[in-house]
Amino acid sequence: MRGFFLGGKYPGDALMLHYKRILLKLSGESLAGGEGYGIDACMVDRYAEEVKKALDLGAEIALVIGGGNIFRGLSSAAADMDRVQADHMGMLATVINSLAFQDALERKGVFTRLMSAIKMEQVAEPFIRRRAIRHLEKGRVVIFGAGTGNPYFTTDTAASLRAVEIEADVIVKGTRVDGVYSSDP
Ligand code: UDP
Repeated sequence: MRGFFLGGKYPGDALMLHYKRILLKLSGESLAGGEGYGIDACMVDRYAEEVKKALDLGAEIALVIGGGNIFRGLSSAAADMDRVQADHMGMLATVINSLAFQDALERKGVFTRLMSAIKMEQVAEPFIRRRAIRHLEKGRVVIFGAGTGNPYFTTDTAASLRAVEIEADVIVKGTRVDGVYSSDP
């Protein structure tokens, strides 16, 4: 898991032994590579490899992935848009990233489930807390897509919410900003 930790405070293995159930929040930008936008397959693959390593050490891993590499409700591209409409686009962007991450994990032989806060049955399971916990207990990586499902929130909020709901031992954040924000940085 090295590379996920702010300030390199924890060597990955030590953290893993310490915490059993981990909620990992990845910002959309962390998947974007040098370009700052879109999805860089190498970056996705790199993070997926780290997740697999943590899983192999015995951790239970849930993921929340942002959408800022594709669309943000408060971005200049959304300046003239209705805020709720723009936030819906942002939440769908998180699902696109989640699908990319799910694909990368499954190519490595990791069992996964994508759960969406916005119903889209052909693409993802609906988020059901008990079912999410069961998936984790069975060793599946659970990816929570579509944020909280509500406009005016960010995926940092979604990560905190899901972490509490699944009784995660720790939230780990992989990002290019230096903390957890209550509004879009
Ligand atoms: N979003 C939302 N509700 C949520 C989570 C996200 O409306 O519960 C929208 C919001 O427009 C946000 C975008 O999705 O700007 C992408 O999420 P975020 O900015 O948190 O992604 P990150 O910065 O982590 O890449």
